[in-house]
Amino acid sequence: MILLVDDRPENIFSLKSILDLHGFPTDTALSGEEALKKTLKTKYALIILDVQMPGLDGFEVAEILSGNSSTRDTPIIFLSAVNTDKKFITRGYSSGAIDYIVKPIDPDILLLKVKTFMRLYEQNRELTAMQETLRSEISFRKQAQQQIQEKARQLDGILEALPQIAFTATPEGAIDFVNRNWHLYSASASLFPATHPDDPEIDFFWKKALMTNKPLEMEVRICKQNTQAFRHFLLRSIPVKENNVIVKWVGTFTDIEEQKQAIKKKDEFLTIASHELKTPLTSIKAYVQLLENLITPEQVTKSYVDRTLLQVNKLDNLINDLLDISRIEGGKLNFDLKEIDFEELLQTTVDILQQIYPDYKITRKGNPPAVIMGNAVRLEQVIINYVSNAIKYSPGQKEIHIISELNPSGELYFAVKDFGIGISAEDCKHIFGKFFRVSDTLPHIQGLGIGLYICAEILRRHKATFGVESQEGQGSSFYFALPTVQ
Ligand code: ADP
Repeated sequence: MILLVDDRPENIFSLKSILDLHGFPTDTALSGEEALKKTLKTKYALIILDVQMPGLDGFEVAEILSGNSSTRDTPIIFLSAVNTDKKFITRGYSSGAIDYIVKPIDPDILLLKVKTFMRLYEQNRELTAMQETLRSEISFRKQAQQQIQEKARQLDGILEALPQIAFTATPEGAIDFVNRNWHLYSASASLFPATHPDDPEIDFFWKKALMTNKPLEMEVRICKQNTQAFRHFLLRSIPVKENNVIVKWVGTFTDIEEQKQAIKKKDEFLTIASHELKTPLTSIKAYVQLLENLITPEQVTKSYVDRTLLQVNKLDNLINDLLDISRIEGGKLNFDLKEIDFEELLQTTVDILQQIYPDYKITRKGNPPAVIMGNAVRLEQVIINYVSNAIKYSPGQKEIHIISELNPSGELYFAVKDFGIGISAEDCKHIFGKFFRVSDTLPHIQGLGIGLYICAEILRRHKATFGVESQEGQGSSFYFALPTVQ
């Protein structure tokens, strides 16, 4: 809005008419005092001010306006019929005005000037708005930065209080905070502690985690500085994300030496106990077998002896499994691989299984001619384990499918499919682990959770891929795939 100030209404009228005609909104004041009053209430884009007025003249009004912060920047055009002399013009400029027009007014010149000032005013307004936005953006960022710093300080405080070794790193992987415990194990705040010469270096796995954005979890042996007393630690580091972007990595080293020692002791105990049990059991088994041979099928005691032998065999299998576990732990599960005809091996094993489980229908699908490098005894152990589990975990079902076929890449694919209780997706991930049993497995189905662990080890030694596909309540399919000999 433009404020027109003149003591003569006819002057105001002619100015107003020109400006209204060109679409400029106007307001009017008939004296300097009235103009000042109006500027208190309204912010004008331009003031056109007559110089000669009774009371406050134009210069005085301009001086007052330039002294006020809210009107200081409002441009003023002086109108004068008389003060065309240089002295007056200079006074006009020094009192804060920006331009000068002499009467009689040339409407074209007036409009040109008004348009220029209005454009300047608009640009100024946009600049001010932009400045305001920038200012609030900067203050928002500053505030966010302060909040992040505050959070980081809190996190550092928490990590400092942990009994573990703790650290944080930038998204690029540079370590930027370490707690007090770190310094006991590393000479530098930016380098991971050195690992035992037989253990992998942390840096390699750290870089891999950074590249894949996946959490890092590994067991390492590290020692306190200037000592050689290595202890087992579990290193865990996870990426912290904000809006799905990694902003930090947080990690800890937890001392697991005591658990490691306890597991070692338990393994040693299992090894000794199973060896000690094996010797008397072998004798018992031999004597029971002798007894069985001596008794005729008609004798009543025959059934007792058969039952004893069944239990003795179960015990024997159990002890063999425990011995296998200690062999695996000690890296001594050794066996030779020879060329074997898988079909032949499978058919013999299925015949044995069918004898052991006469009530079950074990159906075979496919019989590809496949020669593989393997150990017949150990592969038979895997097949028996898969099938026994299929039977054990399918109460009420009497059917098992055995599939063997050559897959497109020429590998031998073998699977045992049952229609039993099935396994959840989460449990499938751990099913081949040591001593793992699904927690809600039916309570009356007994087991130690070592059969599949041994199978996994045997299959790994055969360079086989293996796994399970299952759905709870729908049954499972345990499989392995072996390279064939061309
Ligand atoms: P065990 O049967 O002696 O417990 P395994 O290592 O052979 O030990 O099996 C581990 C666990 O996997 C079992 O306890 C059971 O919970 C689950 N499992 C194995 N085979 C099957 C199957 N065919 N169907 C459902 N669950 C199974």
